[in-house]
Amino acid sequence: YLARIRQMEPRIQSFLHVAEEEKVMREAEKVDMKVERGEEIGPLAGVLVGVKDNICTKDMPSTAGSKILEGYRPAFDATAVRKMKKLGAIIVGKTNLDEFGMGSTTEGSGFHGTANPWDLSRVPGGSSGGSAAAVSARQCVVSLGSDTGGSVRQPASFCGVVGIKPTYGRVSRFGLMAYASSLDVIGCMGSSVIDAAILLNAISGHDKLDSTSSKHEIVDYASDIISKDFTNSSNPLKGLRVGMIKETLGEGVDAAVTSSIQASALHLEALGCVVTEVSLPSFSLGLPAYYVLASSESSSNLSRYDSVRYGNQIAADEITALYGDSRANGFGSEVKMRILMGTYALSAGYYDAYYKRAQRVRTLIKKSFKDALDSNDILISPAAPSAAYRIGEKTNDALAMYAGDISTVNVNLAGLPALVVPCGFVEGGTSGLPVGLQMIGAAFDEAKLLKVGHVFE
Ligand code: GLN
Repeated sequence: YLARIRQMEPRIQSFLHVAEEEKVMREAEKVDMKVERGEEIGPLAGVLVGVKDNICTKDMPSTAGSKILEGYRPAFDATAVRKMKKLGAIIVGKTNLDEFGMGSTTEGSGFHGTANPWDLSRVPGGSSGGSAAAVSARQCVVSLGSDTGGSVRQPASFCGVVGIKPTYGRVSRFGLMAYASSLDVIGCMGSSVIDAAILLNAISGHDKLDSTSSKHEIVDYASDIISKDFTNSSNPLKGLRVGMIKETLGEGVDAAVTSSIQASALHLEALGCVVTEVSLPSFSLGLPAYYVLASSESSSNLSRYDSVRYGNQIAADEITALYGDSRANGFGSEVKMRILMGTYALSAGYYDAYYKRAQRVRTLIKKSFKDALDSNDILISPAAPSAAYRIGEKTNDALAMYAGDISTVNVNLAGLPALVVPCGFVEGGTSGLPVGLQMIGAAFDEAKLLKVGHVFE
């Protein structure tokens, strides 16, 4: 993996920070020694993990891809990181992202872009583009991303890896730099469903440092998958009701993506699932509601970056100029736009028209998912309306970029878990471009998604 980083990093630039090789080797040798001595090792012993740079890591920079946090080294690990380390994981570096998670291509990083390993002229998706590219280019075994409106699932789809967005509250958000707190979750990426399942197991669970983390029972996801034997007569997928979300396959979706999803549906049918089309009437309202709510929450969350407590500071004579100049210099244009949109939506006189209305839409969306999941075990859709597009293609058209989030944002609004697995290819690049299938389940039913996802490998 270290050799792959050395070889590929100049072209792909998945990372904002790579751990020192000697340090990684020393940690790996410690695992070897434990094995030699016959000591017990954790399920992640010696596993090299890439961590999205908006997740705090002790003794490593953590910038969220923002110049305003350049040079910041947290004094603590995020709970997810602490848990992985306890099980033996080695953090190999911090992966690139759109500043504070706001974006869909990783072009919005305050430092540099990241290339898609399948075709270097294309974006890896975002905002967890670095985490997806690093796994795809085999620069690390697995990685952590964060998903507020699709940031684990869409890059997983663009880079041909597995990505899981757990149920809201399944994984502690302690140490995840807040974008939109009611939507944010830490998610996992890997080159197989089992890898993602093992990682999810490691980081799940209640944490007293995050009051929204859940005490819901955790299943041993990986063993659960392996224990299902497809060669015997008890087909675990027989009779599974799969709803294909109609609104995600219509206008605006590439025909080749639609046919990959339809082919996946046939594959599931061949395995005994019952696939039907399902309609979620409020689906198209998800995008506007998401962008109002996410921007509103971010305008509040990002007010903490005053350049006094952390990060970069521009010298000034008085306090207002200190805040103003530091924020004007530290934040990129997309982040500023979101803060403005959010502040506007929350201001007196507009609150009822925007924020409150968006919250109502959120309730409708939750209800329509509940109805759909009452009559279906899982729902399926594409992860994104297209495969990876070219670098620069959507940089000047924020609305076109936002529109690409149509399949994913609704899931965050409802707080549900969703898994993305590579399910096909469309033409492009030198060897085709990957397409991801999204599977959405009931709250805390990640185990079912992982079990079904496993049949695609
Ligand atoms: N693309 C979406 C946004 O910009 C989602 C990002 C995310 O999930 N962090 O808000």
